[in-house]
Amino acid sequence: MAHVEIKQLSKSFGATSVLKSIDLAIDDGSFVVFVGPSGCGKSTLLRVIAGLEDATSGQVLFDGKVVNDMTPAQREIAMVFQSYALYPHMTVAENMAFSLKLRNASKEEIDQAVATAAKMLGVETLLDRLPRELSGGQRQRVAIGRAIVRKPKVFLFDEPLSNLDAELRSRMRYELARLHKQLATTMIYVTHDQVEAMTLADKIVVLSAGHIEQIGAPLELYQHPANIFVAGFIGSPK
Ligand code: ADP
Ligand code: MG
Repeated sequence: MAHVEIKQLSKSFGATSVLKSIDLAIDDGSFVVFVGPSGCGKSTLLRVIAGLEDATSGQVLFDGKVVNDMTPAQREIAMVFQSYALYPHMTVAENMAFSLKLRNASKEEIDQAVATAAKMLGVETLLDRLPRELSGGQRQRVAIGRAIVRKPKVFLFDEPLSNLDAELRSRMRYELARLHKQLATTMIYVTHDQVEAMTLADKIVVLSAGHIEQIGAPLELYQHPANIFVAGFIGSPK
């Protein structure tokens, strides 16, 4: 059974149709990347999966169960955005601990989870700092760490690296790949960066104007693009 499944999903904002009858099945533990030009509906699709936007029609299923009426918390997802969205008045440790505190986890459990995530992301020496005392890359690590601490069933990333410089981006790419191996959790990742898509994905979903052009493994798309659009998008790094 697919871990995350999308059936005949459409989404409109007023008269504007943004997602058009999307069908998609995402395997448990896989790393799936949504690519496509700006405005094609990548973020909207991710937000509908997260439960941050309602579907206009169609279904989102987790483990075979329709989740359309469930909140993001009930869906047990964690989302990491392009802007870091850390709580500015809380330290790194407090930021990372926050969701577990809301769940009334014990102090031992929280300390343990924060320490493990901090170590995974190499921020263990930064735990007492405030977000403003961190670099962009460190902030994004903390944002990812905060997601890990929650032990979500699915990670959703919306262009998490696009505010970082090229060198840091390639290092973080490597670390995300390592993290995925280590956690073996389903990850759904939005980017317009072909290199990120090609290196991170088990499967790439190429979107254009609210519909899926092609789904396939990176090499499959590269070698056998279904059409000129996919060839242009996968084949020509910007
Ligand atoms: P992408 O992430 O691929 O750049 P988005 O999913 O953000 O694309 O947006 C797809 C389309 O939906 C765009 O035309 C955008 O203007 C529109 N859109 C997104 N969110 C809203 C909203 N809340 N209200 C109205 N239009 C929206
Ligand atoms: Mg977007």
